[in-house]
Amino acid sequence: MGLIDNTSFNNHELVSFTSDAETGLKAIIAIHNTNRGPALGGCRFWNYSSEEEAVTDALRLSRGMTYKSALANLPLGGGKAVIIGDPTKIKTPALMQAFGRFVEKLNGLYITAEDVGTSPADMDSIHKETNHVVGLENPNGGSGDPSIITAYGVYLGIKAACEKKLKKDLRGVKVALQGLGHVGSYVVGHLVNDGAVVTVADINTTNVTKIVEKYQVTAVAPTEILYQECDILSPCALGGVVNDTTIDKLKCKIIAGAANNQLAEARHGDELMERGILYAPDYLINAGGIINVTFEGPNYDKTKVMKLVEGIYDTLMEVLAYAEQNNISSNRASDAIAESRFLNLDYNWGTNRLRA
Ligand code: NAD
Repeated sequence: MGLIDNTSFNNHELVSFTSDAETGLKAIIAIHNTNRGPALGGCRFWNYSSEEEAVTDALRLSRGMTYKSALANLPLGGGKAVIIGDPTKIKTPALMQAFGRFVEKLNGLYITAEDVGTSPADMDSIHKETNHVVGLENPNGGSGDPSIITAYGVYLGIKAACEKKLKKDLRGVKVALQGLGHVGSYVVGHLVNDGAVVTVADINTTNVTKIVEKYQVTAVAPTEILYQECDILSPCALGGVVNDTTIDKLKCKIIAGAANNQLAEARHGDELMERGILYAPDYLINAGGIINVTFEGPNYDKTKVMKLVEGIYDTLMEVLAYAEQNNISSNRASDAIAESRFLNLDYNWGTNRLRA
């Protein structure tokens, strides 16, 4: 299939490919839209089964970033990078530096950050080659791992969804959470603190053991987590979990989690609505990390950042109310609001660059 015929190609502004024989780097940067500002989005390092799968992921994730930043009212566009390969086998500082040179060539049109398979230490390697990177480690002028703040925003989104649908707080509420990585592990902590009854799963057994021991939660097999009888399903691993195969088997009242692109297609959001399942749009409630890194720099003010992240609760309530008023699904409601903020804008972002 040609790139522009890929169903995930959605008026993307630019898609760029690179490779570096010396370090084994094979990477793609997809820039969806820069009407509101430079395209900021994480760098995912994943062992894709094919290049086509990697391209599709980059296209879908970069589009999601445009919507995420627009809905959060940030002066940013949407982009994403993917590095192809198993990070546990091929990731080296030299490879991350080669990726940094790739980012530098785009001259600030794209700003990279951490995502699945990359860490603040990797951002520091990239920073040796380019200034167009955020999420650096604290001693290097960064705001550190964004996952903690992402998790806090996701928890607020889960709380809001619970109050809207179940008319109560999280005490005694059954949550099935998939993915105990950087974000999911912190989300579990917030939920347990609020008295939720949490069931977890991860394909990485070390992560499962750690969280089960720390919070005394129950673990189930990764193949079972999506189909738990529960109040809230919280996907915190990878995207596409709500699809034609899984949707009939879901036994939850709410879906609210950190993973990007949880709906395989927008129509799955309509189907969730028909089934009476409240869906908290992923890019709305997982925006904490991007809000945080947007304000990284010498004037970083954590209090200001946390106030903006707390806005996730109200934004979700507003989007759900808009969806109700217009009798549309929550994902269509948030898309409509985001689109009104990034389409047809003649936005001069020259002065809004995060880094000169
Ligand atoms: P991570 O790589 O640290 O964690 C992902 C976890 O999911 C890993 O522990 C992995 O083993 C597990 N996993 C993968 N496939 C699984 C499966 N089929 N079943 C069960 N577990 C599985 O990544 P993260 O930073 O925690 O991000 C999680 C999700 O949240 C991703 O979709 C990411 O794009 C999204 N997100 C992250 C941030 C952030 O600040 N890190 C911000 C916004 C969105």
